[in-house]
Amino acid sequence: MSTQAPIRRNTHQVQIDHIAVGSESPVIVQSMTNTDTADAAGTAQQIKALSDAGSEMVRITVNSPEAAGKVAEIRRRLDDMGCNTPLIGDFHFNGERLLQEFPDCAKALSKYRINPGNVGKGVKGDEKFAYMIRTAAEHDKAVRIGVNWGSLDQSLAKRMMDANLASANPKSPDEVMKEALIVSALESAQKAVDLGLPENKIILSCKVSAVQDLIQVYRDLGARCRYPLHLGLTEAGMGSKGIVASTAALAVLLQEGIGDTIRISLTPEPGSPRTQEVVVGQEILQTMGLRSFTPMVTACPGCGRTTSTVFQELARDIQQYLREQMVVWRAQYPGVESLNVAVMGCVVNGPGESKLADIGISLPGTGETPVAPVYVDGQRKVTLKGDNMAAEFLAIVQEYVET
Ligand code: SF4
Repeated sequence: MSTQAPIRRNTHQVQIDHIAVGSESPVIVQSMTNTDTADAAGTAQQIKALSDAGSEMVRITVNSPEAAGKVAEIRRRLDDMGCNTPLIGDFHFNGERLLQEFPDCAKALSKYRINPGNVGKGVKGDEKFAYMIRTAAEHDKAVRIGVNWGSLDQSLAKRMMDANLASANPKSPDEVMKEALIVSALESAQKAVDLGLPENKIILSCKVSAVQDLIQVYRDLGARCRYPLHLGLTEAGMGSKGIVASTAALAVLLQEGIGDTIRISLTPEPGSPRTQEVVVGQEILQTMGLRSFTPMVTACPGCGRTTSTVFQELARDIQQYLREQMVVWRAQYPGVESLNVAVMGCVVNGPGESKLADIGISLPGTGETPVAPVYVDGQRKVTLKGDNMAAEFLAIVQEYVET
């Protein structure tokens, strides 16, 4: 089978430290902390965990003097841990004051996220926006102008609603609001350029929480500018709903070449790791064939031919093992992220899928001889039997990676 990667929408390239965002670069996976930024140690620890999981940039809330006062320390702590992941400061309401009072925060961040709807109204709002943009330009920082459905600039929305009512062919209020999101992002970007921020320092986003709306807004936004776009379904929700909704929206856009950086905004289920959103983001890109991050495990769903849970446990253990090993393997074994491993439940599809993978195991189904043939590069290499099959298979995977 041959597959063709979608042609990316042509954009400016935006450099954020060592990470390049734009159509000439791979789609970047990013995430956001949920710690209090004033807790420098806890925040640095979570950023490191997100980074180890594969987050290529991490956004932190900068919402108070206590938070802004710790940003430089967080950067230092990360550098001490050997973590060079760029930090994005998320500013709302008081960003200009915090950047003014904490110049080391302004310098330590690699990118500022500014929400035009939360900067302020009128002349005062314009002055605050201008201060943040000029600070970014002065420190050579990138800016994401991040518009959000839940915090749209109300004066702009009213202006557009009034104009719509006065027009000969009024659109539905919903359509006007979507247009207002796009206009807010584009007008703010133009203001930033007029204030001296180069175009290749600007990324845009227009987040909404409904799948069809997001697709429509980004198609339109993408057609009207050359700025790289940050994709994400805002408030995607919890558990499978959040994952499915994000995947449905992002997959359509990515397939059309729209989107240069993504974040999956999952509401974490109690007890689930914050890193889950990074894994989901990577898996969307990898299963679409756009990037490779971690060896993929192909596993069958199981059926009445497998009455034990041995193969599900092995598939889970292998996936977990590969993901954990990637922190070390990434540097040692270039290309390992493209590895395919198959863990199959019985002889029906087991040998076939195992032969197609780089390494595959076909476990015995109910009533079958209790042996598990292992295939390497399409050839039957060994047949495992007994209680130690899982450990022996892991050793074969490890040996394959090393050699
Ligand atoms: Fe069922 Fe075997 Fe197919 Fe797995 S490979 S789903 S166990 S028939």
